[in-house]
Amino acid sequence: MMIQDGEPDKQVPDVHAVYPIVVLLVDDQLMVGEMVRRALAGQADISLHHCLLATEAMAHAERLRPSVILQDLLLPDGDGLELVRTYRDNARTRDVPVIVLSVKEEPAVKSDAFKLGATDYLVKLPDPIELVARIRHHARAFLNQIQRDQAFRALRESQEQLVVMNLELKRLSNSDGLTGLANRRHLNELLESEWKRAVRSREALSVLMIDVDDFKRYNDHYGHLAGDEVLKTVADAVRAAAERPADLAARFGGEEFILVLPCTELAGALFVAEKLRMTLDMLALPHAAASSNTHLTVSIGVASTVPLLGDRTQRLVGASDAALYEAKRTGRNRVCGHLLEPITVA
Ligand code: GH3
Ligand code: MG
Ligand code: MG
Repeated sequence: MMIQDGEPDKQVPDVHAVYPIVVLLVDDQLMVGEMVRRALAGQADISLHHCLLATEAMAHAERLRPSVILQDLLLPDGDGLELVRTYRDNARTRDVPVIVLSVKEEPAVKSDAFKLGATDYLVKLPDPIELVARIRHHARAFLNQIQRDQAFRALRESQEQLVVMNLELKRLSNSDGLTGLANRRHLNELLESEWKRAVRSREALSVLMIDVDDFKRYNDHYGHLAGDEVLKTVADAVRAAAERPADLAARFGGEEFILVLPCTELAGALFVAEKLRMTLDMLALPHAAASSNTHLTVSIGVASTVPLLGDRTQRLVGASDAALYEAKRTGRNRVCGHLLEPITVA
């Protein structure tokens, strides 16, 4: 197919869908156009577009997205070498192979052409077989590069999606479905690492065990779904109580929550616990079936220690559970705490 000097901004049906190789010839001589047309006449997969004016070449190149540009150097309305530079400066034509067609065989002109970004150089009029071979060679390299770029882009996009999905998966596998707090498994991991950090830095680590009072009665009175909703409210308060970046709020199980406070001594942990207890107390969420109240309350057991090498997290969690039991036993809606004496392990 041959299109001669078409309007640069005219809408052309996607020529690439029909012809894998699209050649743009920029040359003011009709005779050259005729010669190239004859050379490409038997090539069913190549379409040729002929532009006679330098001033319209760039617009044609942008619209056509050619696989190869055949560029004359001497045009009445512009300089072919300057055009080569212009192709290279435009993101849409930067990588398109440009074969310079010149009447001159001079090394200085060739050198200038290559310096400005020409891909190849042919002296007019070239042998048709050689012209077709060079067009095919450069077009194939260009199309291969486009395919490689597309494949690479697609790969990078899918890798980015994979990273996002993995992060989401990790978040989901680490969090409790009802409350969005860390789940028990994630808690265990983080508690172990905070524990090791505390051993190394010889700093206090505190744990709050928080349990909703008379929650079985709540479920019995308001129903399990209402129970779930109120658990979310309690979870929000626990989350808000974890004020420092290293603090960790987790759902321990059922209606029990845990708050891990690194670098926090017993006094500080008791303060956080009392604030949390009061916050929920003042929310005054109705609990008509509570044993000694008319609203929902929590009991909190606190334990704190400066862990030593060989000691275990379970001892600290166990101590907070024992303190919680004490808070329940002494009337609920209260905070009890223990300072866990360090044990020396051989
Ligand atoms: P106490 O004041 O001594 O803590 O009494 P309690 O009733 O809160 O304690 P108990 O351990 O006897 O009951 C806890 C209840 O919490 C029983 C269980 O059905 C309920 N529960 C556990 N997980 C969930 C949950 O995810 N949603 C709801 N709605 N209820 C739950
Ligand atoms: Mg419980
Ligand atoms: Mg309870």
